[in-house]
Amino acid sequence: MMIPTSVLQELLEAQPQLRSQMYFKSSLTALSHAMEDQVLAGTDRPLVIACFQRERFYRQEAHRYLRIADITPHVYVLAAPETDFKNASGVHETIAFSPEDGLSQEWHLVVIGQEYAVCLICREHLQIAGKGQLPHMDQSRRFEGIWTFDRQVSCTAAELLLYRISQYRPELQDRNQHLLETVVRPAFSGSPLVHPSPFADRLVTYLQASQYRQLKAYRQIAAQELKERLINSMTSAIRRSLNADQVLSVAVQELGQALECDRCMLYQCQAADKTAVIQYEFVQPGQHSLKGQAWPLERNPWFIQAVKQEEWVYIEAATADPRLKRLKAFGNRVAEIGLHSLLMVPMFYQGRLLGIVELHHTDPLEPYRWSDSDIALVEAIATQVGIALIQAQAYAELEDLNQQLEALERTRSNLIAITGHELRTPLSTIQVCLESLANEPDMPPEVQQVMLSTALTDSERLRKLVQDFLTLSRLESGRVEWHTEALSLQECVDLALSSIKTRSQPGALPEIAVEIPEDLSLVQADGEWLVEVLSKLLDNACKFTTPPGEIRIRGRETDAQTIEVTLADTGRGIEPDRLEIVFERFYQEEGALRRTTGGTGLGLAICRQIVHHLGGKIWAESPGKDRGSTFHFTLPSAIAQVRAMRQRNRRQEVS
Ligand code: ADP
Repeated sequence: MMIPTSVLQELLEAQPQLRSQMYFKSSLTALSHAMEDQVLAGTDRPLVIACFQRERFYRQEAHRYLRIADITPHVYVLAAPETDFKNASGVHETIAFSPEDGLSQEWHLVVIGQEYAVCLICREHLQIAGKGQLPHMDQSRRFEGIWTFDRQVSCTAAELLLYRISQYRPELQDRNQHLLETVVRPAFSGSPLVHPSPFADRLVTYLQASQYRQLKAYRQIAAQELKERLINSMTSAIRRSLNADQVLSVAVQELGQALECDRCMLYQCQAADKTAVIQYEFVQPGQHSLKGQAWPLERNPWFIQAVKQEEWVYIEAATADPRLKRLKAFGNRVAEIGLHSLLMVPMFYQGRLLGIVELHHTDPLEPYRWSDSDIALVEAIATQVGIALIQAQAYAELEDLNQQLEALERTRSNLIAITGHELRTPLSTIQVCLESLANEPDMPPEVQQVMLSTALTDSERLRKLVQDFLTLSRLESGRVEWHTEALSLQECVDLALSSIKTRSQPGALPEIAVEIPEDLSLVQADGEWLVEVLSKLLDNACKFTTPPGEIRIRGRETDAQTIEVTLADTGRGIEPDRLEIVFERFYQEEGALRRTTGGTGLGLAICRQIVHHLGGKIWAESPGKDRGSTFHFTLPSAIAQVRAMRQRNRRQEVS
């Protein structure tokens, strides 16, 4: 049986003076519950007819209707079945109507007693969620209809519903007729509600409860909104900038302000770190700042717990934590900064600790309790911060890789230029000279002499290039055996000087001055390689300093462990942005093709490899073009080595 018409419509036609009104679902729930409680509080045994639209709505109230059925035998419950709701005569009558029936859109409750009569006859106002409207929520459901204590209206509504019930369940027709005659019609002219108090009390209670629910919902929405705002500002900071510094500063400020904590700090660390430097911090005015300070991790029980459990740690009364009893120094530090309540959230990426977000409260009288939503918010921010950190790391690695690629590319193109020029030019010169000598037997002896010496010079150039190649590749591959010993710097400089002097034309070299104090400590080095470094630097200084320039070689002790050697010339100098690049393989300022001075571009790369292997550093300084250059390198002092050896021996003797 399916009746498409509306009971509300029928009531409005029967009582044309009525004006329907709009009710939100929560108001109808409150009214219905108050009406039901009025029945439960009375002794009237009234007729109760309730129409629930769907079975699931009735199921929520089923227990209450069992209690109502205990009070009165005249209870009818109507609903559209979804599972097992059916026509039945049990503790009360149940009437199942088709889901397509008009009643499935309606919410009715009619109570007809001797002391009062009341009815609620409503139809759902169906809204189609369109653009700009709220999505369909249970609380936004609205109903249009009549709620009244008017006896005539209530009795008319009862008649209409009893008539329907007889149509759905004809077997109840006689009983319904009897109810009409004995309960409904006599009530038609009865008195209005005599004792409204249970109804009013209940109504107020329900309204209050719904107000509390609403407040709670507002708070949840506000917390959610705060969380979304913070996460949005973090995500947009991450999108705007690859600069982790900027993103993390924003994060710590926003979080500290939003959660109104006394101190919020963020630091990068690894699980095995002993301490972490506080890099980012928000502090309320007047609070102790920890920015730039080392924060203990190794003996920090909360850090250990957070890392072990890979989860947040929340301590309400930090100073009362029994673990601090065994950790005096850490306990003192906690007391010193006035830390009383703490929330620590670790940031992990693929099981690796990236850092910690830490929030402090410092009021000793009021331990702070972080709510679940606060913790969820800090966790959400920590996730975003983790993303920023990973992104920044990836970016730094990418930049590093890029630089390596650029250097490789420079090396590659330099190598092509070098092989093109430095190898082919001398080879073709040698070839031309030898061909001429072979094909022209009448060549005058002086010309033959020039041809031969040109071929010899160029084959020497070739030999040097091949030798430098081999030296650098031996050094880079680690195939060199180092024989370090205590050496006199003066002696090594003399060897380098004599080698350059024998190789140069008299008068072609600039003035060379050596300033090495007689009492300078011995250096700890491999003599052969140290002379190689000195020769190469000296060679360059001579190459790039035309007479009457001068070269000065100095040696000095910078501290008890280190000796610094400098070779300063007054030659063509180096531009400030080239001071580091000159040490790259195959770097030549004018490019291999245009150079007049000869050379391979490998000399300084070889020097850097040797000095590093000997435990020192090498660098260049220059005030700029045509203003001379100074090359510095350091070596360990032999005295420091001897001292260290003696100490080692003494320790061994003691043990
Ligand atoms: P090269 O065999 O070309 O000299 P190096 O590796 O020794 O190779 O030097 C690389 C480049 O560094 C040189 O080509 C030159 O541009 C620059 N350079 C090295 N020493 C000096 C110096 N004393 N004065 C100016 N420029 C120098």
